[in-house]
Amino acid sequence: MTEPAANAPSKDRPPKADRATPASERTARRPARALAASLLVLLALYGGALWVLRPASPGQRVSLDAVLQGAVERRVVTARLLDEDSRVTGRLVLQIGAPPIRFYAAYPHSDAATNDLVRTLFAGGAKINVDSQPVKKLVRFVAQFLLPLVILANLFALLFFFLTRSGGGGASGLRAFGRIGDKRVARSPAALTFANVAAADEAVVELAEVRDYLADPSAFQAMGVLPPKGILLQGPPGCGKTLLARAVAGEAQASFFSVSGSEFVESLVGVGAARVRDLFAQARSAAPAILFIDELDGVGRQRGAGLGGGHDEREQTLNELLVQLDGFSPSEGVVVMGATNRPDILDPALLRPGRFDRQITVERPDVAGRLDILRLHARGKPLADPERDLGEIAASTPGFSGADLANVLNEAGLLAVRERSRSIVRSHLDEAVERVTSGPKRKASVLSAKDRKRIAFHEGGHAVVAAALGKAGALDKLSIVSRGRGLGHLAMLGDDTVLPTRDDMLASVAVAMAGIAAEELVFGQPSAGAEADLARATELARDMAGRFGMSAGVGRVRVLHDTRQVFLGRDYLLTKEVSQPTLEHLDDAVRRILDDQEQVAREVLVDNKGLLKALAESLVRQETLKGDDLRRALADVVPAPLPAPPRNGSTPATRPARARRATAKE
Ligand code: ADP
Ligand code: ZN
Repeated sequence: MTEPAANAPSKDRPPKADRATPASERTARRPARALAASLLVLLALYGGALWVLRPASPGQRVSLDAVLQGAVERRVVTARLLDEDSRVTGRLVLQIGAPPIRFYAAYPHSDAATNDLVRTLFAGGAKINVDSQPVKKLVRFVAQFLLPLVILANLFALLFFFLTRSGGGGASGLRAFGRIGDKRVARSPAALTFANVAAADEAVVELAEVRDYLADPSAFQAMGVLPPKGILLQGPPGCGKTLLARAVAGEAQASFFSVSGSEFVESLVGVGAARVRDLFAQARSAAPAILFIDELDGVGRQRGAGLGGGHDEREQTLNELLVQLDGFSPSEGVVVMGATNRPDILDPALLRPGRFDRQITVERPDVAGRLDILRLHARGKPLADPERDLGEIAASTPGFSGADLANVLNEAGLLAVRERSRSIVRSHLDEAVERVTSGPKRKASVLSAKDRKRIAFHEGGHAVVAAALGKAGALDKLSIVSRGRGLGHLAMLGDDTVLPTRDDMLASVAVAMAGIAAEELVFGQPSAGAEADLARATELARDMAGRFGMSAGVGRVRVLHDTRQVFLGRDYLLTKEVSQPTLEHLDDAVRRILDDQEQVAREVLVDNKGLLKALAESLVRQETLKGDDLRRALADVVPAPLPAPPRNGSTPATRPARARRATAKE
């Protein structure tokens, strides 16, 4: 296998920056050129000066002793002392009777040596004159002091310029360093449309509004409605977030500015903020425009969280971003789109109304979606048997992102070319899948058959328990394709209950615990995939016992804050106001709620084992079950017995016999 080909970019992937150099970039480069040119001139001058300063060397070189000896013997005819060069030149007779020759000799640059020389020469009757070489003196001064200084200054200026890599007119001085050069903001003639996006129908529907707004902002104004302003695309890498943003721009014929969040954060304080300002100014002047900020978490990470304080520069940049988001008016025709795969670490301030208040999730495609994406990217490629091959490739690539699939087809094409084959055949595709999967990072995100089965039972468990507890109507989508890093997911329609009762909350805990219960029931042991479920269940149980007075053990007293309201310090506990025994009761109560509800979930799953199996099997096959299909699959669920009220204190579990049966391996 040859490695380089494995990293070949997909042919369809549009270049992030334009090839052609726009005019503004050319002007931005001008100061750099001027600096480089003047540096060359200065170096040439320096070279010239060195040439001028080289000491004179007419005639034959002799030693100073020979000259002194010659002077004593009256053989030196003329002598000329060159002061700057510390050389003596002239004519002397080497051998008696021979004609004098031209000579030169170096003498030490000291007054004593010079005096000695002059005296000896004079005594020998030579014609002496002394040349103080004023021109050389001047040139030496320039070459030794002025030129190095100027050259250094020039070098520093160039270095500074390249380090900050900012454009901007040289005349505007420091301000120029806060500019985002056009090189970093890729502005493209977005030629993509929604037709270039497959398997993201929901996102496309939501983004259609953005397109309508950009295409005609005045229509929104006439209606007096607020247009979209900031949209957050969230999802794993390679699932088409950038693609969607570009497609919106292409559909609306709007300009597209793209920048990565990490590029804002520089070590120079204040530069990031200036860049944000500059970027928004650029987008405004090009309206209608989409300003796409990739890796938003790079700049928008939660402030003030964690130890050691925040990163000053990033906070400044984030603050500026917030100011800019608030600052532009809806009529300006600019929509900001951010992309992240870590929405959980974003600063909550970014997600408030008027900022990134719309969130669109793009997910890894399921089997049908993968087929659509493969078909899209197979266009214009000569496949031997597209219908059968693509279907089978789609089925065998769970966990692949759109980018992976595009890459598979590209790789297959490369292999076909290498083999001089006329068309892309199945073996090329298989080998391409193999290549895209290789590498440790990729392996982790591709599900093995074993994991698929486990996730199917886990997610199926959530759904079965939800249905058994009377929530079938709210079930919306069940999938083993993960949304982010974790397992698959179960989506429930929004509940419009403002005041969930104790039983509602207990049911939610039971549903959350159902995943781990199903895994234990079927595979005999849990896996590491249940952390998020446990976090959610624990939070619910803590709220019940600690905030809502729903557990007899703690009683009708509030001992916890509302976590969602606490941003600073994250002080969850009212420690100062709560006694130690109460805290112990709280711990007990939370644990009891979790244990009891896991028990409920387990019983439901045992009662519905056949149904769970069937559901898991169709999940493994189809990967996603939606709406009515999902509800139909769960129609025959055996309902759970009404949930028991939470026990207080130390009452033992009520149904030990069934519990034992439930945990037994089957
Ligand atoms: P992200 O921004 O989410 O990391 P990109 O939008 O850069 O991902 O996707 C990279 C490439 O993968 C796209 O240019 C496209 O070729 C391909 N791709 C990803 N998702 C899709 C999709 N849903 N439909 C078609 N192509 C896709
Ligand atoms: Zn789960």
